[in-house]
Amino acid sequence: MQYKILIVEDETDISRLLKKILTAAGYLVQQAFSGTEAKLLLERETPDLILLDLMLPGLSGEALLLEIRSTFQSNIPVLILSARSSLEDKVTLLKTGADDYITKPFEPEEVTARIQAALRRTGQAPAAPKVLSHKNLQLFPDSRKAVVNDMELSLTAHEYEILLLFLQTPEKVYSRELLYELIWQGGYYGENNTVNVHVSNLRKKLKEADPEEDYIQTVYGIGFKLC
Ligand code: CA
Repeated sequence: MQYKILIVEDETDISRLLKKILTAAGYLVQQAFSGTEAKLLLERETPDLILLDLMLPGLSGEALLLEIRSTFQSNIPVLILSARSSLEDKVTLLKTGADDYITKPFEPEEVTARIQAALRRTGQAPAAPKVLSHKNLQLFPDSRKAVVNDMELSLTAHEYEILLLFLQTPEKVYSRELLYELIWQGGYYGENNTVNVHVSNLRKKLKEADPEEDYIQTVYGIGFKLC
């Protein structure tokens, strides 16, 4: 099944770019160019997820979000798109009922990763392939199993999620902060060492199962990726 995503964004260039990114990722896309247009559309249809800009002509993104939560299908995941990046705005919006926040300018991989994470959180996970593999590692999303050289790894839920994210987007370098936000879902990363500890444990387990290969690469000054 294909997921339907509504983009609410008045800047046509950004809307067109998002449409391109999402279509390439296999989603069906609808566009609304004002809050009012989005509202009319939502009276007729129910998308699986909404990307919502805040600064919109007429009905603002904030006002539309309140309407979505009170009037329409209240559980649709809503991801805010905005140039604003202050923590205060972010916290306020998450309290108002937004599921996540994408700050412009954005990278295509970040948009799709956040959408996948939001759909997964709301139990509408996109149809996952039966097996993801890399070198001697195989991941079975249906059963959440990770197997290396025919031996099942004993992973924590978070370790599994990190590995799944890496295998879904093999080229992507994840900063510690982005990994934290995607896997631990919200909260402020701050100075905490959680991601390092989990990646280090994950590496240890992979190394034990497959001493010959490296699976997770540290990208100096940025974060981690599959290698
Ligand atoms: Ca705008």
